[in-house]
Amino acid sequence: TDPLSSVDPEIAAVLEQELGRQRGTLEMIASENFVSRAILEAQGSVLTNKYAEGYPGRRYYGGCEFVDIAEDLARDRAKALFGAGYANVQPHSGAQANAAVLMALASPGDRILGLELAHGGHLTHGMKLNFSGKLYDANSYGVNPETNLVDMDIVRDQALAVKPAVIIAGWSAYPRQLDFAAFRAIADEVGAKLWVDMAHFAGLVATGLHPSPVPYADVVSSTAHKTLAGPRSGFILTNDLDTHKKINSAVFPGQQGGPLMHVIAAKATAFKLAAEEEFKDRQERTVRGARILAERLMKDDAKAAGIDLLTGGTDVHLVLVDLRTSEIHGKDAEDILHSVGITVNRNSVPNDPRPPLTPSGVRIGTPALATRGFGDEEFTEVADIIATALMPNPDIESLRARVQRLADGFPLYPGLQSPGTW
Ligand code: PLP
Repeated sequence: TDPLSSVDPEIAAVLEQELGRQRGTLEMIASENFVSRAILEAQGSVLTNKYAEGYPGRRYYGGCEFVDIAEDLARDRAKALFGAGYANVQPHSGAQANAAVLMALASPGDRILGLELAHGGHLTHGMKLNFSGKLYDANSYGVNPETNLVDMDIVRDQALAVKPAVIIAGWSAYPRQLDFAAFRAIADEVGAKLWVDMAHFAGLVATGLHPSPVPYADVVSSTAHKTLAGPRSGFILTNDLDTHKKINSAVFPGQQGGPLMHVIAAKATAFKLAAEEEFKDRQERTVRGARILAERLMKDDAKAAGIDLLTGGTDVHLVLVDLRTSEIHGKDAEDILHSVGITVNRNSVPNDPRPPLTPSGVRIGTPALATRGFGDEEFTEVADIIATALMPNPDIESLRARVQRLADGFPLYPGLQSPGTW
């Protein structure tokens, strides 16, 4: 019954410091967001105590009558939100969801085809040290070297050459939308299954700001915690009952034991919130914010400093800054922005001439700031702060003060006492 602060003051201090960091800085890592108070409450709950191997109504443990309600709500809301026939909400993370997808759609040794990691793909789409690259014969398509866009002619040529069992559409660092109908046509032409990993843009899909992959893909996987603003975890959608059964068996007992029922409850709340008007408004501010950022970074003064944007803009919640002709590299940019109080991550650009630890790109996303309440005016200010910081001789102190004003104007988790109680 003792509070964390007395049981474990060291961990309590970490929570307090992290809350302070989140409140005092501007979070622009494209894959991050802030969950609502309701989601924090559901996730930090007694449901963490419950074992519930199996699925609602068919558990291997007693006492599941209440957690079953939570999982049914999560599944029904996920299906309704994305217009899917079936949902599995048990994956502990995006990577575990993806492991289950490959287990359901392919056999070890089968050929898979996904977007090259260095061109914006994800580790679980075939990176050689990842399970996906070790268990499967992983092949990749790159972006068009001229446009940096996913080019369906290139995808088709690769698919015809590789004849994969599974084609993967989805990305971790790409600023444009994908053509799911074209992916479907190619998958049909080569006899492959189509798996779409919408982890990054799920919030945009939920609100109609990005085409939905659900009508086209055999399987759609996602995380709940990026644009969707739910708890850190994954989920999987399908329209075909037989595929759904394979997915269920691949998640449990294939990949996981007991599901995290507290996280599943929080996912249910996240799906509920994502169907509300406020969430749509937030996703719209997210996308507009990324456009505002893109426009600022393409102005002449930035261009003169060697700042460019991959694909010349964005249609989603992030921009990819291309610093190939700048004196500073992505790690420098990450450090400079850190020093003014803005958190981003460095990123390779396609065919990057610099090494992975000091690559030529920076990925900057707007979801967390939109959740914090930012609109066009604040994104215009933050865009100017970023552009100024990345140009020569920035005045770090004055930029830091501008960041502080923005952070102070949009208090994060007002009323939340550290460490983590209301
Ligand atoms: N899929 C994509 C496209 C991602 O970008 C990520 C996370 O970065 C994942 C899957 C993996 O999610 P997690 O970090 O929850 O394992």
